[in-house]
Amino acid sequence: MHQKPDGDAMGSSLGLYHFLVKLGHQVTVISPTNWAAWINWMPESNKVINFEKNQEKVTAILNQVDYLFCLDFNIFHRTKNLASTLAGLQCTKILIDHHEQPDVVNFNYGISNSEKSSTCEMVYDFIVDSGYDYLIDDTIAQCIYTGVVTDTGSFRFPSTTASVHLMVARLMQTGFDHAQVHSNIYDNYLENRLRFIGHALSNRMEFFYEYNTALIAITKQDLLKFEIKTGDTEGLVNYPQTVQGIKLVGFVIDRDEERKWSFRSKGGFDCNTFARKYFNGGGHFNAAGGNTKDSLEETVKKFMAAIKENELLLT
Ligand code: 5GP
Ligand code: MN
Repeated sequence: MHQKPDGDAMGSSLGLYHFLVKLGHQVTVISPTNWAAWINWMPESNKVINFEKNQEKVTAILNQVDYLFCLDFNIFHRTKNLASTLAGLQCTKILIDHHEQPDVVNFNYGISNSEKSSTCEMVYDFIVDSGYDYLIDDTIAQCIYTGVVTDTGSFRFPSTTASVHLMVARLMQTGFDHAQVHSNIYDNYLENRLRFIGHALSNRMEFFYEYNTALIAITKQDLLKFEIKTGDTEGLVNYPQTVQGIKLVGFVIDRDEERKWSFRSKGGFDCNTFARKYFNGGGHFNAAGGNTKDSLEETVKKFMAAIKENELLLT
């Protein structure tokens, strides 16, 4: 899975894990980095190994594998410090992903289908199309459901096709408690995160109506003051989208090692191209990310210059 895994990266990896274990395989789930604490309810998430904390163990395991499944990313650099190790492995590499522009030469099999709602939906297709629909149980269903809910914005994004709803109907036949899963995803934070959201919306959000664009820039002091942990900033990028007329939202956090961007758009503005062109990133048409070594001030200036350059596409 990609670094700082989200619900889809972790859900697809654990969903596939439970399926492969049922088939009798020996499976290890590896995350390049840590992840948000809310994810820890997912079945067997306690068995996921964080590469940053267990480099030797992970490298030893990887050197012995027959198959490497790469989930929810399609180019090795999305796994951060794990990238060079993955590139050097001699095993069979299988890609299951839904982002744009896959680095196809580095995979033996697989698919990156940007029309799919989520990598979780693709793991579901993988299971069903392999003839193992009958192995889908409530554990697998919970994992897959999590990634579908988080990557479709709870079934609201255009990627939510009829087949997504048909899949969810099939998952619900396993009897898992979907209301509990929603609660595990969305009602699983601490007070400080809510206070932080209030602060960010009051003091860090700007609107540039002449470009139908909004920006939220979070400083290092904000992260320290509110004791922000991995995952606490997720979802904040969506708030400015609720304002009439806003087509593009830029959200940047001043992390220690980099300035991390998230972009969201509505309608015809292509975030993937925007993130690639200006911020060393990529992703999907309406949701992408990027990163830079520039200071927060510099990268915000670049964002302002970039939206000016894109005025015709934004207005
Ligand atoms: P988020 O804003 O939620 O971190 O990411 C939005 C989408 O863009 C996700 O699908 C994510 O995988 C992708 N993405 C985020 N950051 C980057 C990046 O730095 N490079 C690329 N290629 N994709 C990214
Ligand atoms: Mn995804």
